[in-house]
Amino acid sequence: MTQLIKPEEMDVVFDRPQFYVDQGHHWCPGCGYGVLPRIFNEEFDKLGPEARIIGVVDIGCISQLPPMLSIEMTGCGHGRALAVATGIKRILPDVIVCVFIGDGGVLMEGLNETFHAGARAENISVFMFNNGVLADTGGQLTMSGSVGLPTSTSPKGRTVEQHGHPIKVAEMLATMPGVGYVGRVSTHDPVHVYRAQKVISDAFRCQVEGGGLAFVDMLTTCPTSWSMTPVQANKFQGEVIVSQNPVGVIKPLAGADGDRRKGWP
Ligand code: SF4
Repeated sequence: MTQLIKPEEMDVVFDRPQFYVDQGHHWCPGCGYGVLPRIFNEEFDKLGPEARIIGVVDIGCISQLPPMLSIEMTGCGHGRALAVATGIKRILPDVIVCVFIGDGGVLMEGLNETFHAGARAENISVFMFNNGVLADTGGQLTMSGSVGLPTSTSPKGRTVEQHGHPIKVAEMLATMPGVGYVGRVSTHDPVHVYRAQKVISDAFRCQVEGGGLAFVDMLTTCPTSWSMTPVQANKFQGEVIVSQNPVGVIKPLAGADGDRRKGWP
């Protein structure tokens, strides 16, 4: 006969992060953004209660993120998040400053801000929620969208002939001396979500160590704009998008320990 264990006698192997706010969210069912708030809240926990953390959130579906993060947050005009974060970090250099922005904000409205912040070696951590579309305005293709991605402006899938090549902003930033860390992650299955947390953690570590701009390209699904079910979207991301955008550490942290982190952490 199976011996039942009382709850008070169980070992805790999975618990709520200190900062977690259980309010649900406004994203569509199956949205690839959904697994990321927990990761960030766990990383905020690791930074400790004495750490002051300020987030800057850009425009788009990403703007629904603040209620799920119990840190100080501010908004900004579309594509201006890195510029606003620059101002906060320069006024409050001891504060951990992070940017939550979509691929539209980074690659369309804010490409200028993105590269100039890298050139200036701004000591901030930037997280690009990358689903290849401007989702909140109708699902138009962005310059990060993979070849083959169906969107409202590429209903038969992106083609190089009609839409041009995707811009690999993470690889381009990695060439800049002011950028201290670059990674790319995906959220389409549990293994990749686990790996994503290691990369996100190192993006905060880069800032704590004064390493310059840290940038993480976070591949996420948008089943609504892609006209797919959540299962189809995750499959498409794993088979098509990740094959065109290899995940892992693109530019490791500096120093011996950083060198150890080449490839997957
Ligand atoms: S439109 Fe796309 S990105 Fe926006 S909440 Fe819905 S699934 Fe997520």
